[in-house]
Amino acid sequence: MFKNLIHQKNKAIIISREKISENLLKVDFKTNHIEYTPGEYITLFIANIVPRNYSIFSVSEDKKNFSIIVNINGDGIGRRSIRQFVTYEKVSYIGPLGDFKFNKNDRSENVWFIATGSGISPLYQMIEDNKNKYNISLFFSANRKEEFPKLKFDGIKTYFSITQKDDTWKGEKGRVTHTVKKQLLDLPNLENISFYICGNPNMVKDTNLMLLNEGISKDKIYFEKFGF
Ligand SMILES: Cc1cc2nc3c(=O)[nH]c(=O)nc-3n(C[C@H](O)[C@H](O)[C@H](O)COP(=O)(O)OP(=O)(O)OC[C@H]3O[C@@H](n4cnc5c(N)ncnc54)[C@H](O)[C@@H]3O)c2cc1C
Repeated sequence: MFKNLIHQKNKAIIISREKISENLLKVDFKTNHIEYTPGEYITLFIANIVPRNYSIFSVSEDKKNFSIIVNINGDGIGRRSIRQFVTYEKVSYIGPLGDFKFNKNDRSENVWFIATGSGISPLYQMIEDNKNKYNISLFFSANRKEEFPKLKFDGIKTYFSITQKDDTWKGEKGRVTHTVKKQLLDLPNLENISFYICGNPNMVKDTNLMLLNEGISKDKIYFEKFGF
């Protein structure tokens, strides 16, 4: 890609890895210096050659460490290699890149964040930064409850749902599109909500379409698709 040619490559070292759910791996890197706006991503060069994009989950206060969250289920080169990452391994990346960011001029009182899988990664810090300014709800869906990320979600409303049958699960059931629509139907005023959607491309497409069909204005919907 052209952007890969015009951005300077940076170096980083893997300092730790942690499974935060059955299919999500958090990988922590040390680098020279990184500054970002929540929502941005890096392009990581797998084996120094193959570019793959990963949203930045967090950056440390001293701006020397950053983390990503990767869905490691699957046989693509990115997921396979990241599954095998070892501590002290050196990697190269470009970025931060992208324009999926929280709109600070938003006048909605309510902000709904909608994610599947590693789509939670760019949304997490947006939620943390804004939870005292807006009424925030998070909608997250997975096949099974074991796929829910072990992250703290204090001070916001959460709607976690699963799509596979599980009699031990007493929470929401069904796809995230369904859970969001159910909550929308209970509201008298849809104009006062903004939406941030992130995850696999089909989920993002379906949710966006559902919101538009429900009469939400397109300038209230922000999204990042993890693919094309
Ligand atoms: C903006 C953005 C942010 C993302 N953030 C995350 C994240 O935080 N966590 C996460 O788990 N996944 C994220 N992804 C998805 C991730 O980039 C990979 O698509 C995913 O890990 C599967 O890659 P793979 O190599 O295992 O699979 P493969 O099947 O080998 O590749 C799948 C996808 O890789 C992408 N790709 C292929 N060639 C190129 C190329 N030359 N340059 C760039 N991309 C290419 C295409 O989307 C392709 O469909 C993000 C994607 C995008 C676009």
